[in-house]
Amino acid sequence: MKYRLLGNTGLRVSEIGLGCEGFQEENYEMLKKMFDVAEENGINYFDLYASDPKMRKAVGDALQGRREKFYIQSHICSVWKDDQYLRSRDLEEVKEGFEEMIKLLQTDYIDVGMIHYCDALNDWEKIVNNGILDFAISLKEQGRIHHIGLSSHNPEVALKAISTGKIEVLMFSVNPCYDLQPASEDVEDLWSDAAYEKPLTNMDPQRKELYETCQRMGIGITVMKAFGGGDLLNAEVSPAKVALTPAQCIHYALSQPAVTSVMSGAHTIEQLKTSIAYEDASDEEKDYALALSSFPMISWEGHCMYCNHCLPCPMHIDIASVNKFLNLAKVQNELPETVREHYKVLEVHASDCMQCGACEKRCPFGVSIRNNMNEAIDVFGY
Ligand code: SF4
Ligand code: SF4
Repeated sequence: MKYRLLGNTGLRVSEIGLGCEGFQEENYEMLKKMFDVAEENGINYFDLYASDPKMRKAVGDALQGRREKFYIQSHICSVWKDDQYLRSRDLEEVKEGFEEMIKLLQTDYIDVGMIHYCDALNDWEKIVNNGILDFAISLKEQGRIHHIGLSSHNPEVALKAISTGKIEVLMFSVNPCYDLQPASEDVEDLWSDAAYEKPLTNMDPQRKELYETCQRMGIGITVMKAFGGGDLLNAEVSPAKVALTPAQCIHYALSQPAVTSVMSGAHTIEQLKTSIAYEDASDEEKDYALALSSFPMISWEGHCMYCNHCLPCPMHIDIASVNKFLNLAKVQNELPETVREHYKVLEVHASDCMQCGACEKRCPFGVSIRNNMNEAIDVFGY
């Protein structure tokens, strides 16, 4: 298992995490086995958005004797009311829900306390005005949560929330189909037939801005819906009309700026093992570039997808990284120090490019790599 730093939190988390979709099927024996398989394979991060007390208690039981082996990302506005899940913005309900959650999980602290599922600007206003953000800040001051997170599918809302400087971890839906769609307050819009009827070109600029801003601010992104709820794995139901593999979906998400860990929402041990198998997949198996370039009606012409399909470079330039740092530098007026430092530690730089053009012949997305190398020299100086 490979590990990545979760933004500026200092947490070193496994790039494959455990989602909790499969926990909700009241098969608590399997839930414990999922934690066993996760631990055996080096997974040290999991997400818990669901609020069913029986399930939370089962997670707490599964963690007995190994609490310190996992970082818990659990959602503080996901409560249980009238025997069902409720996304609450009522401060008293949220406070009670937090106490209940921490008791059921049988722990003293939550590593990342997620403000749960905010997809609308007026909902974010409620989170601020109803005292929920302040409650999360006070939990952090008391050490009961160690970091504050937010989960969202909407880049506009997420950008607004992270601009407060209070959000340290963002749980966001990242996959190559959602990434084409403009911000919406209704997550169903991202998957509707109408959204894919017209030709689509390139990543939505606000989503790109979100990932790049998170990278610049040191906010780690944990990913939900990397497989589009499974639809992206099936050509019949995928809006792209082409099936991707789990390894391609995971690799796509992990290639985006600031992305740290992909939550595998496995329903079975086999599904979890399929996600873990990403760690041993070959470069060819992970390669999503050709599959994406074969999507009918969808084009990423000229946009770097950080797929590395253009390699090898005779000068050993890490072309995707140069493109990524160039894009990060270009979104701002001033060159951020972190981006300058990341660029500096590359072993070979744009100034080593001999403009042979071999890479451009291999890029499925028609990126002007030679131009990018020249731009990178202008921006970074070498
Ligand atoms: S330049 Fe093209 S091939 Fe290379 S990483 Fe970017 S999209 Fe992929
Ligand atoms: S054009 Fe530059 S970056 Fe591309 S393969 Fe040639 S040397 Fe490498």
